[in-house]
Amino acid sequence: MGKINLLSQETIDKIAAGEVVERPASVAKELIENSIDAGATAISVEIKGGGIEYLRITDNGSGIDKDQIQIAFLRHSTSKIESAEDLANVRSLGFRGEALSSISAVSKVELITKTKDSLLGACYIIEGAKEISLTDIGSPDGTTFIIRQLFYNTPARKKFLKSESTEGSYVFDVVEHLALSHPEISFKFLINGKEKLMTSGNGILSDTIYQLFGRQIATNVLDVDYADEDMTISGFIGQSVIARGNRAFEHFFVNNRYIKSNNLSKACEEGYYGFLMGHQYPFFVLNINFLNSSVDVNVHPTKQEVRFENETYILETLTKIINNRLRKREDVLEAHVEEPKEPVKPIIYESFFEPKEKDEVVPPPIKMPEPFEPTRLQEIKEKVTAQIRMDTPYEKKYTENNRGGEKYEQISFLKEEAVKEHKIIGQVFDTYWIIEYDKKMYIIDQHAAHEKVLFEKTMKKLKDNDMTSQLISPPVIISLSSQDILVFENYREAFEKIGFQIESFGGNELAINGVPGNMLNLDPKDLFMEILMDCNNYKASDSFDLIVERVASISCKAAVKGNNRLSLPEIKTLVNDLLQLENPYHCPHGRPTMISFSEYELAKKFKRIV
Ligand code: ADP
Ligand code: MG
Repeated sequence: MGKINLLSQETIDKIAAGEVVERPASVAKELIENSIDAGATAISVEIKGGGIEYLRITDNGSGIDKDQIQIAFLRHSTSKIESAEDLANVRSLGFRGEALSSISAVSKVELITKTKDSLLGACYIIEGAKEISLTDIGSPDGTTFIIRQLFYNTPARKKFLKSESTEGSYVFDVVEHLALSHPEISFKFLINGKEKLMTSGNGILSDTIYQLFGRQIATNVLDVDYADEDMTISGFIGQSVIARGNRAFEHFFVNNRYIKSNNLSKACEEGYYGFLMGHQYPFFVLNINFLNSSVDVNVHPTKQEVRFENETYILETLTKIINNRLRKREDVLEAHVEEPKEPVKPIIYESFFEPKEKDEVVPPPIKMPEPFEPTRLQEIKEKVTAQIRMDTPYEKKYTENNRGGEKYEQISFLKEEAVKEHKIIGQVFDTYWIIEYDKKMYIIDQHAAHEKVLFEKTMKKLKDNDMTSQLISPPVIISLSSQDILVFENYREAFEKIGFQIESFGGNELAINGVPGNMLNLDPKDLFMEILMDCNNYKASDSFDLIVERVASISCKAAVKGNNRLSLPEIKTLVNDLLQLENPYHCPHGRPTMISFSEYELAKKFKRIV
């Protein structure tokens, strides 16, 4: 053990800073919350260099008296509480009095502030916890903080930061969340001088949703308004059409603070059961307000976690009100389904299935018991899953029937002279084509085969620089989250390379003016979203060529999905296309495009041969 040292105030501040200031987004959060606590009705946020180089917050709030400024920068200085007794009633977002001291310990801070009552404003400069100057200055009412060179004196912390664009996107998220939880405040956000977001501050949440996420989302949400003696839940939930591939569009606010909670997320997603597919996540903005103190939001000043006293009750209520709201909206679906004389197989989640023709035997929907019970839901889910399992054991059958090694012995099957001898039997399950040739039965997976052909054609065109783009008119407008926009900007070139023509349409909206020439039969929005969701999996180290290849493969996959019924000439063309390829036997994702059964195998299966 070495000598025991008393740490200097500077070192203590730097250590403490680590607890509050993790990255530009946490600085932005602390400073914006201070502006909100100061009663601001307009807040403007600007960053350059991802907020690491430059971060400015300007508000029109109360301002700070010149003689209070230095005190505000001391550790544990706050105007919001005086003693521990006040803690129980605290309504402000901050009260620990740590933010300003922490931020100023690890950056260069310039503060310009003026209260209504003083004639002049004050300018305070403090760098790495060292005061540089405090002077009078002419300024409007309110406060501006400029934070430069975050972590310039703590290189070890700086190393943990991500790229400027990623750090910038985290700041974007913070502004977005605060704008959503405060529709009564007008927010403006600029990145490198460009306006990225602007809300009106008129106090109407649906207007804020429109201003942040665009028309498509704002016109597809349902309002939620619930109250009991312990809590209120209000806000908006998205209908299935605006579902996304990740949780970025799930927004929870508890007592006006943005929080993340796996349990709350799961409870909401449970409420969507039957309305969304397995890989889809809903859009929602939900405010949960507790009327008593059954929640502890301040588990940690920088963490977005909460603890609830009565968690089970809260989760069940959430699931129930979301499910009820969606059902109320989509009741119309049930009207398609006839009530049969006696109950057949119980399937409830009719939105999973296409509406059937009248004279078909249709499983009736089970009436949901009211109120909705999660245990019941689990039971039903299991039944539905079991049924799906029972109905589709294809893969298993193939392996059982397959005698080792024979599965892919179809090499001669795709020779030109062989194709002439093909006897096309027909199609089953809208997916598989059965062809007889040379004492074998071949089964072609139409989707996999089609995908493979399309992919090879696309890759060849890319190589020959021959990709065409087809203009669409009018353009298709899509609304994205700020996070999605940044992902898109990262991979924009790959989208363009395969034939997309896309331009920014203001805010978080994009206009698709053109789509890849060979994908005309697709919904441009679905195709775009499918590719964008896949982009989330790409690594920074992936080469441009690799990314283009993935984008091409995803688009080919999407292209064959909706295309179920091929005519006989079409399947012949497909087989002919296949035989031109070097490796026709596997789709771009490695799945087989075809399998075969010999006559011998079938005979064995029917016990003709023992
Ligand atoms: P806390 O918010 O926990 O009180 P901070 O370190 O964030 O602690 O801020 C210290 C004090 O500085 C606040 O209590 C408040 O009085 C004052 N302050 C900070 N930012 C602003 C602002 N934008 N407008 C007015 N006062 C502010
Ligand atoms: Mg604060």
